[in-house]
Amino acid sequence: MSARPTAALLAAAALAVRAAGCTAAPAAAAPSLPHLDAQTSLLVVAPHPDDETLCCAGVIQRVVRAGGRASVVWITSGDASELDLLLIERSLFVKPEKARALAATRMREAREASARLGVPEAGQLFLGYPDRGVLRLLTDHRATPYTSGSTGAAAVPYRAALFPGHPYTGESLERDFAAVLERVRPTLILAPSPRDSHPDHRATGLLTIAVSTRRGLPDVRYWIVHGGEGWPSPRGLLPGVPLTAAPRSRGLALAVFALEPAEEDRMLEALRAYDTQMRTLAPFLLAFVRSTELFASLPGAQLAPQ
Ligand SMILES: [Zn+2]
Repeated sequence: MSARPTAALLAAAALAVRAAGCTAAPAAAAPSLPHLDAQTSLLVVAPHPDDETLCCAGVIQRVVRAGGRASVVWITSGDASELDLLLIERSLFVKPEKARALAATRMREAREASARLGVPEAGQLFLGYPDRGVLRLLTDHRATPYTSGSTGAAAVPYRAALFPGHPYTGESLERDFAAVLERVRPTLILAPSPRDSHPDHRATGLLTIAVSTRRGLPDVRYWIVHGGEGWPSPRGLLPGVPLTAAPRSRGLALAVFALEPAEEDRMLEALRAYDTQMRTLAPFLLAFVRSTELFASLPGAQLAPQ
């Protein structure tokens, strides 16, 4: 891939790593998540609908139960999911209106799934940026609008999004994300790892680091979904079994968050709201319904996309 984050973005991200007091090797002591209570304002940053459930369903439920606030911001609406679009169109040539209709469906699914976890409607925030395009926005489309290959849009096309009509540029995405931080005022952010193999996930991690660092926000923890060949292994539903560390998390100290059986059950209920994803990816998605969730305190020494 030729796209590289700008020097400024990487510098901000590197600064965040140094500010966290570590530039290379992880600490040996097992880290933990901050205490969750009524003062907690949790923000889960999800590149696509379903990521919030896969990564963080347990923490979301625990924050809600403790009387805290839980919010999710979806950076994209999943409007370039090739498998879904192939199923809908039965053709490689997908009409833009079908891609937008898929996004509307996925946003409905995300509302239902997150509501099942206890996220109130006011905490369900969609930015509507292009699926498979987030890294491009942060690299070669910082000021010049990017056009989505699946929807044909060069600006947020969804009325359900927070800022319909905002252009598909990196600068606009950073402004919109900053507006979300202003609105939510999170005390804890759960963001995708810049080590994730999916470019939207890596870019979303870098975006979170850069914007939250600029605003002096403290606690960011990192999760991974596309964690390396075959992970999570084995595939399929294995309730009560802990999640193992992903190959791409190697060398990072991970906080282990243990779910209660009822929280695992609720996570499965939330996942089942994603009809579009379950019909194509069920064995992969179900493999995240485990008795633990894992979070790194640091994004990892290597911040550049691979
Ligand atoms: Zn994703």
